[in-house]
Amino acid sequence: MSTDQHKIPQATAKRLPLYYRFINNLHHQGKLRVSSKELSEAVKVDSATIRRDFSYFGALGKKGYGYNVEYLLSFFRKTLDQDELTKVALIGVGNLGTAFLHYNFMKNNNTKIEMAFDADKGKVGEEVGGVSVYHIDQLEDMLKNTDVAILTVPSSEAQNITERLVEAGVSGILNFTPARITVPDHVRVHHIDLSVELQSLVYFLKHYPLDEEE
Ligand code: ATP
Repeated sequence: MSTDQHKIPQATAKRLPLYYRFINNLHHQGKLRVSSKELSEAVKVDSATIRRDFSYFGALGKKGYGYNVEYLLSFFRKTLDQDELTKVALIGVGNLGTAFLHYNFMKNNNTKIEMAFDADKGKVGEEVGGVSVYHIDQLEDMLKNTDVAILTVPSSEAQNITERLVEAGVSGILNFTPARITVPDHVRVHHIDLSVELQSLVYFLKHYPLDEEE
C-alpha cells in the first residue's frame, strides 16, 4: 500500500479524508455500494474528478452498480492510517485552544489531542476537555513520540514555539495563528487563519454572488 500511495496526486490525497468520512457514514448505514453520482452530490466534487480519484485507489466502479463500500473503507483506513492513533499536542489554551480541547476529533478520524501546553500558571495543572495542561517549559520533557502539534498561541510566540516543536521532533504543525512560520524542509505546516477565511467569504459573497437557482 505504501508504494502505491506515492502515486496518488496531492490534490486527490487532500480529498481522501472527505471521501473517508462519507464512506464511513454509508458503511454505518449498512450500504454496500455507492455510485459516483451519489458521492458527487454528497461531497460536492464533480463525478469525473471522483472517478479519476477512485481509479488511483484501485476502485473500479461499474456502470449502474457503483463502488464497493467495504473495499473503499478498508482502502481509506489503511491509507489514512486509521488503524493507528496519531497523537497531537496543543500549544496555547486560550479561547480557540480550549474549543479544540473540547472538540472530539476521534469522532471522524483517528487523531487525539493527548496533551496541552500554556505559559499561564493559572491554566497549568488544569484539565480541559479531559486533556492535561502542562507548562510550556515542560514541552521538551513531555513531547515524546508526538508528530503533530496545533498552534493556538498569540502570533508573537508562534515562531519561537515552532522552533522548539521542530527540535522536539514534531513534523506536522496546524498553525491557527496569523503568523507565517518558517520551518525546515522536512516539516509540513498547514495554515488556517480563521479571520482571513471569514473575510474572504464575505468578499466573495459581495463580489462573486452565486447564480440564483432557476
Ligand atoms: P484568552 O482569552 O484565554 O487569553 P485568547 O485566545 O484570546 O485566550 P491569546 O492571547 O491568543 O488569548 O493566547 C492564547 C493562549 O496562548 C493563552 O492561553 C496564553 O496564555 C497562551 N500563551 C501565550 N504565550 C504563550 C507561550 N509562549 N507558550 C505557551 N502558551 C502561550
